[in-house]
Amino acid sequence: MRIVKSIPQLRKLVAAQRTKGRSIGFVPTMGALHEGHLSLIRLAQRKSKYVVVSIFVNPAQFGPKEDLAKYPRDLKRDAALCRSAGADLVFAPRARDVYPDNYHTYVTVGQLSEGLCGASRPGHFKGVATVVAKLFNMVQPDVAVFGQKDAQQAAVIRQLARDLDFPVRIVVGPIVRERDGLAMSSRNAYLTPAERAQAPALHHALNLAKWLVRSGRRESGMVKREMMRMIAREAPLGEVDYVGIVNNRTLEPITKVTSDTLVALAVKFPSARLIDNVVIR
Ligand code: AMP
Repeated sequence: MRIVKSIPQLRKLVAAQRTKGRSIGFVPTMGALHEGHLSLIRLAQRKSKYVVVSIFVNPAQFGPKEDLAKYPRDLKRDAALCRSAGADLVFAPRARDVYPDNYHTYVTVGQLSEGLCGASRPGHFKGVATVVAKLFNMVQPDVAVFGQKDAQQAAVIRQLARDLDFPVRIVVGPIVRERDGLAMSSRNAYLTPAERAQAPALHHALNLAKWLVRSGRRESGMVKREMMRMIAREAPLGEVDYVGIVNNRTLEPITKVTSDTLVALAVKFPSARLIDNVVIR
């Protein structure tokens, strides 16, 4: 497995694989890898012949008061995990090569970027769409794999690829969870033991939503209220940022849960903001 920092070097190695007729799979990450990321690398392996994993903490997607400076960075550890999961190349570019002085071009994906996390993290999806568009141009993958954990991000990337005619197939892998149901996230490491103990409340609230809908109670307002009550009870250290009940394709709010509904939520603990979601089919 190769570890590459320079963009020209990446292009050279990927081009060599392409001339051998190998399809290119791509998994973009910010590092601090966990089993969720590794599941995407394995999925990429099943969908393509040569798997590139990028590790880049993208400054453009962090707000001024967010955790860019303290985001965990450990390339050695991450590279070892990538190797164990079967990646062929780790691409870890330097921020100054991705955003050199005098950088001015940004990509905004309208509509899908506005609600849910977009409302509480202004500019976040502009940063995501910009870096993913740039990485797609650098790697030129046939298949790119993203996680359902970031459901809105996956929707934004699909739209981006379609609207800008990137010749790439977007594949979305399922959410990988801890044994107690907490969705794996690099930011879980920030949680204090007391917060960590309360964090499965997000998953419990989503299970409650599923159960309410299954038992015929489909009114979104009521489902949201019950979810908030459960979180208030189980996670008193957390503050609900949003609970969204939206159409899974358009991400537009809906008043009655139907098939293909995304229930998504974000909860702010003092040490980390956590997100999770479930699709009701
Ligand atoms: P990140 O490093 O947090 O930017 O995430 C990189 C990719 O891994 C994104 O496509 C995420 O959606 C995905 N991902 C993160 N956590 C999980 C998880 N628990 N299960 C599946 N995919 C995940």
